[in-house]
Amino acid sequence: MEKGSVYIHVPFCVQKCAYCDFYSLAGMSDSMAGYVDALCREIWMQAARFGEIRAETVYIGGGTPSLLEGKDISRILSVLRECMELSPACEITMEGNPGTLREAALEEYRKAGVNRFSLGVQSFSDCLLRTLGRIHTAAQAAEAVRMLRRAGFSNVNLDIMYGLPGQTESSFLETVGTALTMSPEHLSCYSLIPEEGTEMGRRVFSGEVQLPQEEVLLRMEEEMRGLLKQNGYERYEVSNYALAGKECRHNLVYWECEPYLGLGPGAHSDFGGRRFSHPANLRGWMQAINKKELFEEPEDDGSPEKRRFDRMMMGLRMVRGVDLNRFVRDFGRRPEEIWPDTVREMRRLSMIRDELGSTRSVELSNLSTDEETMPNDQNAATSELDPTRSDRMQSPGPDKEERLALTEKGMDVMNAWLVRMMEEEEKG
Ligand code: SF4
Repeated sequence: MEKGSVYIHVPFCVQKCAYCDFYSLAGMSDSMAGYVDALCREIWMQAARFGEIRAETVYIGGGTPSLLEGKDISRILSVLRECMELSPACEITMEGNPGTLREAALEEYRKAGVNRFSLGVQSFSDCLLRTLGRIHTAAQAAEAVRMLRRAGFSNVNLDIMYGLPGQTESSFLETVGTALTMSPEHLSCYSLIPEEGTEMGRRVFSGEVQLPQEEVLLRMEEEMRGLLKQNGYERYEVSNYALAGKECRHNLVYWECEPYLGLGPGAHSDFGGRRFSHPANLRGWMQAINKKELFEEPEDDGSPEKRRFDRMMMGLRMVRGVDLNRFVRDFGRRPEEIWPDTVREMRRLSMIRDELGSTRSVELSNLSTDEETMPNDQNAATSELDPTRSDRMQSPGPDKEERLALTEKGMDVMNAWLVRMMEEEEKG
Protein backbone atom coordinates (compact mmCIF):
# COMPACT_ATOMS: atom_id res chain seq x y z
CA MET A 1 0.00 0.00 0.00
CA GLU A 2 1.26 3.48 -0.92
CA LYS A 3 0.82 5.98 1.90
CA GLY A 4 0.78 9.69 1.26
CA SER A 5 -1.21 12.82 0.83
CA VAL A 6 -3.30 14.07 -2.06
CA TYR A 7 -3.17 17.53 -3.60
CA ILE A 8 -5.82 18.63 -6.11
CA HIS A 9 -5.15 21.71 -8.21
CA VAL A 10 -8.22 23.73 -9.27
CA PRO A 11 -6.88 26.24 -11.82
CA PHE A 12 -9.84 28.66 -12.08
CA CYS A 13 -10.03 32.23 -10.77
CA VAL A 14 -12.37 35.16 -11.31
CA GLN A 15 -9.48 37.45 -12.20
CA LYS A 16 -5.73 37.30 -11.94
CA CYS A 17 -4.34 39.05 -8.84
CA ALA A 18 -1.48 41.46 -9.56
CA TYR A 19 1.15 39.45 -7.63
CA CYS A 20 0.09 35.91 -8.56
CA ASP A 21 2.38 33.48 -10.35
CA PHE A 22 0.42 30.32 -9.51
CA TYR A 23 -1.12 28.40 -12.36
CA SER A 24 -4.58 29.97 -12.48
CA LEU A 25 -6.86 31.02 -15.33
CA ALA A 26 -9.38 33.86 -15.32
CA GLY A 27 -12.56 33.77 -17.40
CA MET A 28 -12.54 30.00 -17.98
CA SER A 29 -15.59 29.06 -15.92
CA ASP A 30 -17.08 27.29 -18.99
CA SER A 31 -14.40 24.63 -18.60
CA MET A 32 -15.21 23.80 -14.98
CA ALA A 33 -17.65 20.94 -15.67
CA GLY A 34 -15.17 19.30 -18.08
CA TYR A 35 -12.42 19.80 -15.51
CA VAL A 36 -14.37 17.98 -12.77
CA ASP A 37 -15.10 15.06 -15.15
CA ALA A 38 -11.43 14.81 -16.13
CA LEU A 39 -10.29 15.09 -12.51
CA CYS A 40 -12.53 12.19 -11.45
CA ARG A 41 -11.14 10.15 -14.35
CA GLU A 42 -7.61 10.99 -13.33
CA ILE A 43 -8.26 9.82 -9.75
CA TRP A 44 -9.36 6.42 -11.14
CA MET A 45 -6.32 6.24 -13.44
CA GLN A 46 -3.81 7.08 -10.70
CA ALA A 47 -5.43 4.61 -8.30
CA ALA A 48 -5.19 1.88 -10.95
CA ARG A 49 -1.54 2.78 -11.50
CA PHE A 50 -0.43 2.85 -7.84
CA GLY A 51 -2.75 0.17 -6.43
CA GLU A 52 -3.88 0.68 -2.87
CA ILE A 53 -3.36 4.23 -1.59
CA ARG A 54 -3.97 5.48 1.94
CA ALA A 55 -4.24 9.27 2.32
CA GLU A 56 -3.72 11.02 5.65
CA THR A 57 -4.46 14.48 4.23
CA VAL A 58 -6.18 15.95 1.17
CA TYR A 59 -5.67 19.55 0.03
CA ILE A 60 -7.88 21.17 -2.61
CA GLY A 61 -5.93 24.26 -3.67
CA GLY A 62 -5.61 26.55 -6.61
CA GLY A 63 -6.64 28.76 -8.17
CA THR A 64 -9.92 29.28 -6.43
CA PRO A 65 -11.54 25.97 -5.44
CA SER A 66 -14.48 27.86 -3.89
CA LEU A 67 -15.66 28.55 -7.45
CA LEU A 68 -16.70 24.88 -7.58
CA GLU A 69 -20.22 23.95 -6.55
CA GLY A 70 -20.90 21.88 -3.45
CA LYS A 71 -21.95 18.94 -5.67
CA ASP A 72 -18.58 19.10 -7.49
CA ILE A 73 -16.57 18.88 -4.25
CA SER A 74 -18.89 16.15 -3.03
CA ARG A 75 -18.35 14.16 -6.25
CA ILE A 76 -14.55 14.61 -6.17
CA LEU A 77 -14.33 13.44 -2.53
CA SER A 78 -16.66 10.48 -3.22
CA VAL A 79 -14.45 9.34 -6.09
CA LEU A 80 -11.37 9.73 -3.88
CA ARG A 81 -13.03 7.55 -1.23
CA GLU A 82 -13.95 4.93 -3.83
CA CYS A 83 -10.42 4.79 -5.22
CA MET A 84 -8.34 5.10 -2.08
CA GLU A 85 -8.55 4.83 1.65
CA LEU A 86 -8.88 8.17 3.43
CA SER A 87 -7.75 7.71 7.04
CA PRO A 88 -10.52 8.26 9.64
CA ALA A 89 -8.78 11.43 10.86
CA CYS A 90 -8.00 12.62 7.35
CA GLU A 91 -7.46 16.39 7.23
CA ILE A 92 -9.34 17.70 4.18
CA THR A 93 -8.53 21.33 3.41
CA MET A 94 -10.09 23.52 0.78
CA GLU A 95 -8.95 26.99 -0.27
CA GLY A 96 -11.34 29.83 -0.99
CA ASN A 97 -11.44 33.45 -2.03
CA PRO A 98 -13.71 35.64 0.15
CA GLY A 99 -15.28 37.12 -2.99
CA THR A 100 -16.65 33.73 -4.08
CA LEU A 101 -18.07 32.11 -0.93
CA ARG A 102 -21.74 31.12 -0.87
CA GLU A 103 -23.34 29.97 2.36
CA ALA A 104 -25.20 26.99 0.87
CA ALA A 105 -22.08 25.77 -0.96
CA LEU A 106 -20.01 26.03 2.24
CA GLU A 107 -22.43 23.74 4.03
CA GLU A 108 -22.23 21.27 1.17
CA TYR A 109 -18.42 21.34 1.24
CA ARG A 110 -18.46 20.58 4.95
CA LYS A 111 -21.03 17.80 4.58
CA ALA A 112 -18.90 16.32 1.79
CA GLY A 113 -16.03 16.00 4.31
CA VAL A 114 -14.02 19.23 4.04
CA ASN A 115 -12.92 19.85 7.63
CA ARG A 116 -10.42 22.70 7.23
CA PHE A 117 -10.84 25.89 5.22
CA SER A 118 -8.09 28.25 4.12
CA LEU A 119 -9.26 31.75 3.24
CA GLY A 120 -7.17 34.15 1.14
CA VAL A 121 -7.79 37.37 3.07
CA GLN A 122 -4.40 39.02 2.37
CA SER A 123 -5.33 42.34 4.04
CA PHE A 124 -8.16 44.11 5.83
CA SER A 125 -7.35 47.38 4.04
CA ASP A 126 -9.56 48.05 0.99
CA CYS A 127 -6.89 50.26 -0.51
CA LEU A 128 -4.25 47.48 -0.33
CA LEU A 129 -6.72 44.88 -1.60
CA ARG A 130 -7.18 47.07 -4.69
CA THR A 131 -3.39 47.36 -5.07
CA LEU A 132 -3.19 43.57 -5.00
CA GLY A 133 -5.97 43.22 -7.57
CA ARG A 134 -8.13 41.16 -5.21
CA ILE A 135 -11.81 40.78 -6.12
CA HIS A 136 -13.11 41.31 -2.56
CA THR A 137 -13.28 44.02 0.08
CA ALA A 138 -12.21 43.83 3.72
CA ALA A 139 -15.88 43.68 4.76
CA GLN A 140 -16.45 40.69 2.46
CA ALA A 141 -13.44 38.94 3.97
CA ALA A 142 -14.82 39.49 7.49
CA GLU A 143 -18.24 38.24 6.38
CA ALA A 144 -16.60 35.20 4.74
CA VAL A 145 -15.11 34.19 8.10
CA ARG A 146 -18.54 34.55 9.75
CA MET A 147 -20.07 32.43 6.94
CA LEU A 148 -17.46 29.73 7.51
CA ARG A 149 -18.27 29.62 11.23
CA ARG A 150 -22.03 29.51 10.52
CA ALA A 151 -21.45 26.63 8.11
CA GLY A 152 -19.72 24.76 10.95
CA PHE A 153 -16.03 25.07 10.07
CA SER A 154 -14.01 24.90 13.27
CA ASN A 155 -10.57 24.81 11.65
CA VAL A 156 -9.95 27.95 9.61
CA ASN A 157 -6.75 29.45 8.24
CA LEU A 158 -6.41 33.06 7.12
CA ASP A 159 -3.71 34.02 4.61
CA ILE A 160 -2.25 37.46 5.21
CA MET A 161 0.40 39.39 3.27
CA TYR A 162 2.84 42.08 4.34
CA GLY A 163 5.58 44.14 2.73
CA LEU A 164 3.04 45.56 0.25
CA PRO A 165 3.56 48.80 -1.68
CA GLY A 166 2.14 51.65 0.39
CA GLN A 167 1.64 49.45 3.46
CA THR A 168 2.67 51.03 6.75
CA GLU A 169 3.62 49.19 9.88
CA SER A 170 0.46 50.34 11.62
CA SER A 171 -1.83 49.33 8.75
CA PHE A 172 -0.28 45.84 8.74
CA LEU A 173 -0.66 45.48 12.49
CA GLU A 174 -4.26 46.62 12.17
CA THR A 175 -4.84 43.77 9.69
CA VAL A 176 -3.24 41.29 12.09
CA GLY A 177 -5.37 42.70 14.95
CA THR A 178 -8.55 42.39 12.89
CA ALA A 179 -7.64 38.81 11.94
CA LEU A 180 -7.12 38.00 15.63
CA THR A 181 -10.61 39.24 16.53
CA MET A 182 -11.91 36.42 14.30
CA SER A 183 -10.01 33.76 16.29
CA PRO A 184 -8.77 31.71 13.32
CA GLU A 185 -7.10 28.45 14.29
CA HIS A 186 -4.21 29.13 11.91
CA LEU A 187 -2.54 32.11 10.24
CA SER A 188 -0.21 32.05 7.23
CA CYS A 189 1.67 35.36 6.96
CA TYR A 190 3.71 35.84 3.79
CA SER A 191 5.79 38.79 2.70
CA LEU A 192 5.17 39.89 -0.87
CA ILE A 193 7.79 38.57 -3.28
CA PRO A 194 7.44 40.41 -6.59
CA GLU A 195 7.78 37.83 -9.35
CA GLU A 196 8.88 38.35 -12.94
CA GLY A 197 5.96 38.02 -15.34
CA THR A 198 3.37 39.38 -12.90
CA GLU A 199 1.75 42.81 -12.92
CA MET A 200 3.18 43.52 -9.46
CA GLY A 201 6.65 42.47 -10.61
CA ARG A 202 6.41 44.88 -13.52
CA ARG A 203 5.33 47.75 -11.22
CA VAL A 204 8.07 47.05 -8.65
CA PHE A 205 10.91 46.42 -11.13
CA SER A 206 10.02 49.51 -13.19
CA GLY A 207 10.04 51.68 -10.05
CA GLU A 208 6.36 52.57 -10.44
CA VAL A 209 5.75 51.44 -6.85
CA GLN A 210 8.09 50.98 -3.91
CA LEU A 211 8.06 48.19 -1.37
CA PRO A 212 8.60 49.03 2.32
CA GLN A 213 12.25 49.34 3.37
CA GLU A 214 13.99 46.30 4.85
CA GLU A 215 13.97 47.80 8.40
CA VAL A 216 10.23 48.41 8.18
CA LEU A 217 9.70 44.86 7.00
CA LEU A 218 11.75 43.50 9.90
CA ARG A 219 9.77 45.61 12.38
CA MET A 220 6.49 44.37 10.84
CA GLU A 221 7.64 40.77 11.29
CA GLU A 222 8.81 41.30 14.84
CA GLU A 223 5.64 43.09 15.94
CA MET A 224 3.46 40.51 14.22
CA ARG A 225 5.26 37.62 15.91
CA GLY A 226 4.89 39.30 19.30
CA LEU A 227 1.20 39.92 18.75
CA LEU A 228 0.56 36.37 17.57
CA LYS A 229 2.51 34.88 20.46
CA GLN A 230 0.57 36.97 23.00
CA ASN A 231 -2.62 35.55 21.51
CA GLY A 232 -1.52 31.92 21.72
CA TYR A 233 -0.32 31.35 18.15
CA GLU A 234 2.95 29.43 17.93
CA ARG A 235 5.20 29.86 14.94
CA TYR A 236 5.86 26.35 13.61
CA GLU A 237 7.21 27.22 10.17
CA VAL A 238 8.89 30.27 8.65
CA SER A 239 5.52 31.84 7.68
CA ASN A 240 2.97 29.77 9.58
CA TYR A 241 1.41 30.14 13.04
CA ALA A 242 -1.19 28.00 14.76
CA LEU A 243 -3.06 27.45 17.97
CA ALA A 244 -1.90 24.28 19.77
CA GLY A 245 -2.68 21.19 17.70
CA LYS A 246 -3.94 23.18 14.70
CA GLU A 247 -0.81 23.05 12.53
CA CYS A 248 -1.62 22.26 8.90
CA ARG A 249 -0.87 18.54 8.61
CA HIS A 250 -0.88 18.67 4.83
CA ASN A 251 1.84 21.31 4.63
CA LEU A 252 3.89 19.38 7.21
CA VAL A 253 3.92 16.53 4.68
CA TYR A 254 5.72 18.82 2.19
CA TRP A 255 8.16 20.15 4.77
CA GLU A 256 8.95 16.65 6.04
CA CYS A 257 9.36 15.49 2.41
CA GLU A 258 6.76 12.76 2.83
CA PRO A 259 5.04 11.40 -0.32
CA TYR A 260 2.18 13.26 -1.97
CA LEU A 261 0.21 12.71 -5.14
CA GLY A 262 -0.80 15.77 -7.15
CA LEU A 263 -3.88 15.71 -9.39
CA GLY A 264 -5.07 18.27 -11.93
CA PRO A 265 -3.12 20.50 -14.34
CA GLY A 266 -0.03 22.14 -12.86
CA ALA A 267 0.10 19.74 -9.88
CA HIS A 268 3.40 18.24 -8.68
CA SER A 269 3.92 14.80 -7.14
CA ASP A 270 6.54 12.96 -5.15
CA PHE A 271 4.90 9.57 -4.99
CA GLY A 272 5.78 5.92 -5.40
CA GLY A 273 9.48 6.88 -5.31
CA ARG A 274 9.17 9.23 -8.32
CA ARG A 275 8.89 12.97 -8.77
CA PHE A 276 6.69 14.15 -11.60
CA SER A 277 4.39 17.00 -12.52
CA HIS A 278 1.44 17.76 -14.77
CA PRO A 279 2.26 20.60 -17.17
CA ALA A 280 0.32 23.80 -16.42
CA ASN A 281 -1.98 23.36 -19.39
CA LEU A 282 -5.67 22.79 -18.70
CA ARG A 283 -6.63 21.94 -22.27
CA GLY A 284 -3.69 19.55 -22.81
CA TRP A 285 -4.38 17.83 -19.48
CA MET A 286 -8.12 17.40 -20.24
CA GLN A 287 -7.45 16.06 -23.75
CA ALA A 288 -4.90 13.54 -22.48
CA ILE A 289 -7.07 12.34 -19.58
CA ASN A 290 -10.08 11.97 -21.88
CA LYS A 291 -7.94 9.70 -24.08
CA LYS A 292 -7.06 7.73 -20.91
CA GLU A 293 -3.44 8.95 -21.00
CA LEU A 294 -1.56 10.43 -18.07
CA PHE A 295 -0.33 13.94 -18.79
CA GLU A 296 2.91 14.22 -16.89
CA GLU A 297 6.64 14.75 -17.11
CA PRO A 298 9.49 13.76 -14.79
CA GLU A 299 10.49 16.56 -12.48
CA ASP A 300 14.10 15.93 -11.55
CA ASP A 301 16.43 12.98 -11.21
CA GLY A 302 15.32 12.38 -7.61
CA SER A 303 18.97 11.52 -6.87
CA PRO A 304 20.01 11.00 -3.22
CA GLU A 305 22.01 14.28 -3.43
CA LYS A 306 18.93 16.22 -4.54
CA ARG A 307 16.70 14.49 -1.99
CA ARG A 308 19.01 15.09 0.97
CA PHE A 309 19.40 18.77 0.05
CA ASP A 310 15.62 19.10 -0.27
CA ARG A 311 15.19 17.37 3.10
CA MET A 312 17.37 20.08 4.68
CA MET A 313 15.83 22.91 2.68
CA MET A 314 12.27 21.95 3.58
CA GLY A 315 13.01 20.67 7.10
CA LEU A 316 14.79 23.83 8.20
CA ARG A 317 11.66 25.81 7.36
CA MET A 318 10.00 24.16 10.37
CA VAL A 319 10.70 25.34 13.90
CA ARG A 320 11.06 21.65 14.87
CA GLY A 321 13.68 21.24 12.14
CA VAL A 322 15.01 18.13 10.43
CA ASP A 323 14.52 14.65 11.89
CA LEU A 324 18.14 13.48 12.12
CA ASN A 325 17.43 9.81 12.77
CA ARG A 326 15.38 9.63 9.58
CA PHE A 327 17.97 11.68 7.70
CA VAL A 328 20.75 9.23 8.66
CA ARG A 329 18.51 6.25 7.92
CA ASP A 330 17.74 7.57 4.42
CA PHE A 331 21.07 9.13 3.44
CA GLY A 332 23.65 7.25 5.53
CA ARG A 333 25.34 10.33 7.02
CA ARG A 334 24.55 13.28 9.28
CA PRO A 335 24.25 16.80 7.79
CA GLU A 336 27.54 17.87 9.43
CA GLU A 337 29.31 15.06 7.58
CA ILE A 338 27.84 16.12 4.23
CA TRP A 339 28.15 19.92 4.62
CA PRO A 340 30.80 20.20 7.38
CA ASP A 341 31.87 23.81 6.78
CA THR A 342 28.38 25.25 6.52
CA VAL A 343 26.93 23.39 9.49
CA ARG A 344 29.97 24.25 11.65
CA GLU A 345 29.66 27.91 10.74
CA MET A 346 25.91 27.90 11.41
CA ARG A 347 26.57 26.46 14.86
CA ARG A 348 29.31 28.96 15.57
CA LEU A 349 26.96 31.82 14.81
CA SER A 350 24.11 30.28 16.83
CA MET A 351 21.98 29.94 13.72
CA ILE A 352 21.24 26.30 14.38
CA ARG A 353 20.25 24.29 17.41
CA ASP A 354 19.98 20.60 18.20
CA GLU A 355 17.09 19.03 20.02
CA LEU A 356 16.45 15.72 21.69
CA GLY A 357 12.86 14.64 22.02
CA SER A 358 10.16 17.18 21.54
CA THR A 359 11.60 19.74 23.91
CA ARG A 360 15.00 21.39 23.92
CA SER A 361 17.08 19.00 25.95
CA VAL A 362 20.82 19.24 25.97
CA GLU A 363 23.49 17.39 27.87
CA LEU A 364 26.75 19.29 28.12
CA SER A 365 30.05 17.51 28.07
CA ASN A 366 33.56 18.53 27.11
CA LEU A 367 34.42 21.11 24.52
CA SER A 368 35.05 19.64 21.12
CA THR A 369 38.36 19.72 19.30
CA ASP A 370 36.76 22.05 16.73
CA GLU A 371 36.44 24.70 19.37
CA GLU A 372 39.94 24.20 20.68
CA THR A 373 41.33 24.96 17.24
CA MET A 374 39.17 28.03 16.67
CA PRO A 375 40.58 31.52 17.09
CA ASN A 376 40.05 32.86 20.63
CA ASP A 377 37.35 35.36 19.80
CA GLN A 378 35.40 32.64 18.02
CA ASN A 379 35.84 30.33 20.99
CA ALA A 380 34.36 32.97 23.25
CA ALA A 381 31.45 33.56 20.93
CA THR A 382 30.78 29.85 20.65
CA SER A 383 30.82 29.12 24.37
CA GLU A 384 28.60 32.06 25.12
CA LEU A 385 26.08 31.67 22.35
CA ASP A 386 25.96 28.05 21.46
CA PRO A 387 25.02 25.74 24.32
CA THR A 388 23.43 23.21 22.00
CA ARG A 389 26.15 21.68 19.87
CA SER A 390 25.48 18.12 18.91
CA ASP A 391 29.05 17.12 19.66
CA ARG A 392 28.30 17.94 23.31
CA MET A 393 25.11 15.95 23.31
CA GLN A 394 24.80 12.47 24.71
CA SER A 395 23.84 9.96 22.06
CA PRO A 396 20.10 9.64 21.88
CA GLY A 397 18.61 6.34 22.95
CA PRO A 398 17.11 4.22 20.19
CA ASP A 399 13.66 5.75 20.68
CA LYS A 400 14.77 9.34 21.17
CA GLU A 401 13.98 11.77 18.41
CA GLU A 402 16.94 13.94 17.46
CA ARG A 403 16.35 17.04 15.35
CA LEU A 404 18.44 19.80 13.85
CA ALA A 405 16.64 23.15 13.68
CA LEU A 406 17.32 26.79 12.97
CA THR A 407 17.18 29.39 15.70
CA GLU A 408 14.86 32.35 15.02
CA LYS A 409 17.92 34.32 13.90
CA GLY A 410 18.87 31.48 11.55
CA MET A 411 15.36 31.35 10.06
CA ASP A 412 15.60 34.99 9.06
CA VAL A 413 18.63 34.25 6.87
CA MET A 414 17.82 30.67 5.92
CA ASN A 415 18.20 31.17 2.18
CA ALA A 416 21.76 32.39 2.52
CA TRP A 417 22.70 29.17 4.40
CA LEU A 418 21.04 27.00 1.79
CA VAL A 419 23.07 28.70 -0.93
CA ARG A 420 26.25 27.98 1.07
CA MET A 421 25.24 24.35 1.46
CA MET A 422 24.68 24.09 -2.27
CA GLU A 423 28.09 25.65 -3.01
CA GLU A 424 29.77 23.30 -0.55
CA GLU A 425 28.06 20.33 -2.18
CA GLU A 426 29.26 21.48 -5.62
CA LYS A 427 32.84 21.89 -4.39
CA GLY A 428 32.57 18.29 -3.17
S1 SF4 B 1 -7.12 34.22 -6.21
FE1 SF4 B 1 -5.19 33.21 -5.64
S2 SF4 B 1 -4.69 31.82 -7.33
FE2 SF4 B 1 -6.29 33.26 -8.07
S3 SF4 B 1 -5.14 34.86 -9.07
FE3 SF4 B 1 -5.47 35.53 -6.96
S4 SF4 B 1 -3.67 34.82 -5.84
FE4 SF4 B 1 -3.70 33.75 -7.80
